[in-house]
Amino acid sequence: VKEHGRNNYRFYTPEMTHMAIDRLDMEGNLRRALERDELQVYYQPLVDLGSGAIVGAEALVRWSHPRIGMIQPGEFIPLAEDTGLIIPLGQLVLRRVCTDIRDWQASGLPPIKISLNLSARQFRQDDLSACIREVLDETGVEGRLLAFELTESMVMHDVENTLDTLRELKALGATISLDDFGTGYSSLSYLKRFPIDTLKIDRSFVRDIHQDGDDAAIAHAVIAMAHKLGIKVIAEGVECPAQLDLLREFGCDELQGYYFSRPVPVEEFTLMLRQARSL
Ligand code: C2E
Ligand code: CA
Ligand code: CA
Ligand code: CA
Repeated sequence: VKEHGRNNYRFYTPEMTHMAIDRLDMEGNLRRALERDELQVYYQPLVDLGSGAIVGAEALVRWSHPRIGMIQPGEFIPLAEDTGLIIPLGQLVLRRVCTDIRDWQASGLPPIKISLNLSARQFRQDDLSACIREVLDETGVEGRLLAFELTESMVMHDVENTLDTLRELKALGATISLDDFGTGYSSLSYLKRFPIDTLKIDRSFVRDIHQDGDDAAIAHAVIAMAHKLGIKVIAEGVECPAQLDLLREFGCDELQGYYFSRPVPVEEFTLMLRQARSL
């Protein structure tokens, strides 16, 4: 993995050569993937810092290509956004998530909240909340079990439309998270202006939090400020106990990262929920 700047990762894998060959046909491939059920939803647990319990998860899409193997979202989400395929893709992910939530409930597991990523194109979709409502009705899942993750760049344009859309999502009972916080043109005024429930500190600030005093100061201040505004804070990319200790000291609410678990397939996540329950 080579790093370009603070929050841009490019992945160079052996598969990339195959991908390059297929580049032109990627769109066709992705279209087929949507029809042939090649997309999967993985779950990465969100852990409560106080109790250590799994209190939620982020849904992250994966593409298991019959020839190339597993393709990470960084490789196809941008293409899906450019081509508009992100709309059916997003709908597929939402339907899968709601079906999984329904199955967990049916098997007697306590309800947990699942976070979904919304891309700019989905967010601007006129019938976004109607499409979500349709899936909720179909699956019988309550809107309060969903959280939608948006980035700062998505909310900074067109304040009026953003407010309308956020209100519609909240009217479904869902909560709103600001993703990758700190990497965009962070304007603290968004936090005041928009009905944001949760803020996710980007992992580029968490990575060196135990080694870099500036990053620690930023994380600490962000957590304190968010709490004063009644906003919950999740730290992304927690990989070691030293980071966890500091985030605990700073009063962070929930953690997400490889230290607890990588994103895992639904079967594995279901097992985690069962085990946690029988503790
Ligand atoms: P994101 O929303 O910032 O998601 C978090 C990313 O950080 C995930 O990458 C996750 O696997 C990774 N991650 C989690 N913990 C750690 C850690 O401790 N260390 C490190 N180094 N990484 C960690 P992933 O799954 O490759 O997803 C990449 C991006 O693709 C996501 O970034 C999100 O922007 C987008 N994405 C994924 N699924 C969807 C989807 O269903 N819809 C949309 N619109 N975008 C999606
Ligand atoms: Ca996210
Ligand atoms: Ca993020
Ligand atoms: Ca990110």
